[in-house]
Amino acid sequence: MSYNIDTKCVQAGYTPGNGEPRQVPIIQSTTFKYATSEDMGKLFDLEASGYFYTRLQNPTNDYVAAKIAELEGGTAGMLTSSGQAANFFALFNVCECGSHIVSSSSIYGGTFNLIAVTMAKMGIDVTFVSPDCTEEELNAAFKDNTRAVFGETIANPALTVLDIEKFAKAAHSHGVPFIIDNTFPTPVNCRPIEWGADIVTHSTTKYMDGHGVAVGGAIVDSGRFDWMAHAEKFPGLCTPDESYHGITYAEKFGQGGAFITKCTAQLMRDFGCIQSPQNAFYLNLGLESLHVRMPKHVENGQAVAEFLKDHPKVANVNYSGLKDDKYYELAQKYMPNGGCGVVSFEIEGGRDAALRFMKELKLAAIETHVADARTCCLNPATSTHRQMSDEQLEAAGIPAGLIRMSCGLEDKEDLIADLAQALDAI
Ligand SMILES: *Cc1c(COP(=O)(O)O)cnc(C)c1O
Repeated sequence: MSYNIDTKCVQAGYTPGNGEPRQVPIIQSTTFKYATSEDMGKLFDLEASGYFYTRLQNPTNDYVAAKIAELEGGTAGMLTSSGQAANFFALFNVCECGSHIVSSSSIYGGTFNLIAVTMAKMGIDVTFVSPDCTEEELNAAFKDNTRAVFGETIANPALTVLDIEKFAKAAHSHGVPFIIDNTFPTPVNCRPIEWGADIVTHSTTKYMDGHGVAVGGAIVDSGRFDWMAHAEKFPGLCTPDESYHGITYAEKFGQGGAFITKCTAQLMRDFGCIQSPQNAFYLNLGLESLHVRMPKHVENGQAVAEFLKDHPKVANVNYSGLKDDKYYELAQKYMPNGGCGVVSFEIEGGRDAALRFMKELKLAAIETHVADARTCCLNPATSTHRQMSDEQLEAAGIPAGLIRMSCGLEDKEDLIADLAQALDAI
């Protein structure tokens, strides 16, 4: 039986048997017991599925990963220790030294650094393209050694909305998967697989947890990418893995299982970026109310954006739910129920005014975090980006007066009143 997304948020992934715990159990165990060495040997050969060591896999994590996979409409999923680990694993599972990635330039700073600096040190090259590029510009970025295309549904912090179909089409016409970070909308507001994405990643630290308690990440495979049809590009999936007695993932686990099995068996084994079962349990509590929380984040984001848009001390507002926003049409297409609760705006008066404004806020806390129940604000110029001059900030598209506001689950009138009094004071 197939359920709607609200039901999946509450119940998917874990179905207890007779007399078993109603809530997802926390399997707080590093190891698992077997009667014979032969039994355990089958696991090491990937001949049987089961658990032997929590550095690779743990049942609690797998229940929660299965829920996220169902929410995204994928065939398999896994949890990672962080969103950073999820994006690294998703890319590195199809890339190796000498590979090339095409990525949207409008992505989370940590991911930009991961790809442009750290993966470059591994010999993996990248070409960044504007999310707003034409199809011709996008196609021109591909090389013979391109192995993946990457982007974010709604970029953090720029709030650009990606044309998912455009990026998926370009990736597929070059025989490579399109990997998309769907952290901000969550599958409640957008399911990129329905628009052609092959692999979906998450920083579950944000809305999925939603309460600011546990850092985590997730990867979901759509099961739609035909690795064997492009076997020469993906030897890791399409030729025998000698570290597992010569099995070929794409043959043994098929299109729906190869990507996540390889990612677990090789990358999780070797890097060990596993989420703790305790954190997976917290994440599941967040997921149980995700469908209830997201509409409220959107309602608050929309109300705040509309208030700011008409305020004389606000130069401009970025929120794809505003009719005159550059991304309104794309957001309507991909996220008709709204995107997320994060709004950014530039206040008149630059750095000094921004500093003053931040001091006057009473309800909204100053935090680098986004996407949890409590509203928070950040002025990059005086915090995360304080080493940059006003000119450098302007060039990077982060003017000194820019404020990023993550609207929580409070009453929207209280949020607006807080903004109004802080703006009045400057
Ligand atoms: C926060 C974030 C990440 C990184 O996730 P962590 O859980 O902090 O490692 C990646 N992508 C996006 C869009 C994010 O907002």
